[in-house]
Amino acid sequence: MSDTSPRPVRVVVLGGGTAGWMTAAATAKLLPGLAEVHLVESEDIGIVGVGEATLPHIRGFVERLGIDEAAFMKATHATYKLGIDFRDFGSIGTSYIHPFGSFGEPVAGVGFHHYWLELERSGKAGPLDQYSFAVAAAKANRFAPPAMDGSLASSYGYAYQFDATLFGPFMRDFGLANGVTRTEGRVTEVERDSESGDVTALVLENGTRIEGDLFVDCSGFRALLLGDTLDEEWEDWTHWLPCDRAAAMPCAHVREEIEPYTTASAMPAGWRWRIPLQHRIGNGYVFASAFISEDEACEAIIGAAEGTQLADPRVLRFRPGRRSRSWSHNVIGVGLASGFLEPLESTSIYLAQMAITYLVELFPVGGKIDPRDRDEFNRLVDLEYDRVRDFLILHYNATTRDDSEFWDHVRTMEVPDSLAGKMELWREAGRVEKYSNGLFYDASWIAVYVGQGLLPERHDPRAAIPREDQMLAAFGKLRDTIASEVSQMPGHRDYLLRESARL
Ligand code: FAD
Repeated sequence: MSDTSPRPVRVVVLGGGTAGWMTAAATAKLLPGLAEVHLVESEDIGIVGVGEATLPHIRGFVERLGIDEAAFMKATHATYKLGIDFRDFGSIGTSYIHPFGSFGEPVAGVGFHHYWLELERSGKAGPLDQYSFAVAAAKANRFAPPAMDGSLASSYGYAYQFDATLFGPFMRDFGLANGVTRTEGRVTEVERDSESGDVTALVLENGTRIEGDLFVDCSGFRALLLGDTLDEEWEDWTHWLPCDRAAAMPCAHVREEIEPYTTASAMPAGWRWRIPLQHRIGNGYVFASAFISEDEACEAIIGAAEGTQLADPRVLRFRPGRRSRSWSHNVIGVGLASGFLEPLESTSIYLAQMAITYLVELFPVGGKIDPRDRDEFNRLVDLEYDRVRDFLILHYNATTRDDSEFWDHVRTMEVPDSLAGKMELWREAGRVEKYSNGLFYDASWIAVYVGQGLLPERHDPRAAIPREDQMLAAFGKLRDTIASEVSQMPGHRDYLLRESARL
């Protein structure tokens, strides 16, 4: 009897940063017998080594691969993240948390925010974030995993904040244990088939040849395969997202608490992150080089960050945008080789994870690529990038700030038509575009709109049907229940210590 099972596809991953090791580990683990995974990386070239804050989807990745969360967190000195605290974005002196969770619950099919807007008209609603479990827990520096029982304590999600220089090695150990072959060395030549133009092999400096059927370009901003070899165009989005540099600098802890959230504080020419890890705080000033010099930005982050500096600021340069196609011929780009917007809202590792998910779903079993799968992959990836792009631009454009050249520019710049349409829908009727998969659902958009002071002209008229006293009572009860349940959660630091001691 002949064996009819397809031969394993030789998958060659170029690059051993976060994207490379996530791709190699996932394809080896999730496609047993279908993929033979070989990763090439060069320690001389190194990795970007930043990227510390994530989104809740990463939990699905960790779970699906069967990684023990506590072990993973200990190895990467990770903390939990319930959202992002935005300061001074809408106007100086204002702040709001974009939570990983909802605000209240829909009633009679009408979104909670419409009832909130109804009460807000008469100044009786109180701040919107009082109605979010995740915000209340974040502000109290408390953490516990969400309940699974449909109660209020299940109305949130969480992500991780980890040391980016430790995450890659963790995934590498996992990948190697799951059958990934690793070769160290610098790729200096790429061989292609003279007829199809497909990539056939990578050649290293020392002459080693690595042949493959499918190549995954995880070579970071260099984009050796997708960019240099296949010449896939980079769509530059700097005119919408003018921040193109970051000055990153770690500091020691000075506060008693470890906050379960990232802080993003607006700065004169961009914004700065503060990411609490178990052993240190990550800081970075993301800035637009058209408005401030690198030296000035480094001075600014030194001046703004609290705690003993653990290293000098390191400047990273990038150009916001994405490849016109992330899958071309037999090369798929994952991570920075495929696109990068900027660190706001911590979307880059998510975008790598999303590309890996689609790669696994549309994997060319047996090695033959169906052009329809390639087109579908590119369509899905583009959709995700476009949505993230619009959401990030909103943070800059929905502002009244005109106190610096940068903020005046982003306040008055033209935005993509797709975002202009979304903002119009919100302004006119308090509505948020619906979609069923991907990133940033209703609550995220509402958090930013309301948090940055953009209130709609009208809202769903059905929100005026209940009697006001009944609505006020329901709102009060919701606030009290959230406050009472949050007060019973452990402190974030205590929870981390407890989990770590369990190992
Ligand atoms: P890299 O880390 O650059 O890895 C590239 C790999 O390719 C390396 O192993 C290198 O050795 C290898 N390579 C390159 N050329 C060759 C060659 N010729 N031969 C052999 N090997 C080669 N993301 C988030 O999700 N959250 C954040 O908070 C966040 N913050 C960020 C802040 C900044 C300032 C920046 C710039 C990025 C941030 N990101 C963040 C993005 C995140 O860092 C990246 O998505 C992630 O690190 C993946 O990078 P990568 O693996 O694609 O590239």
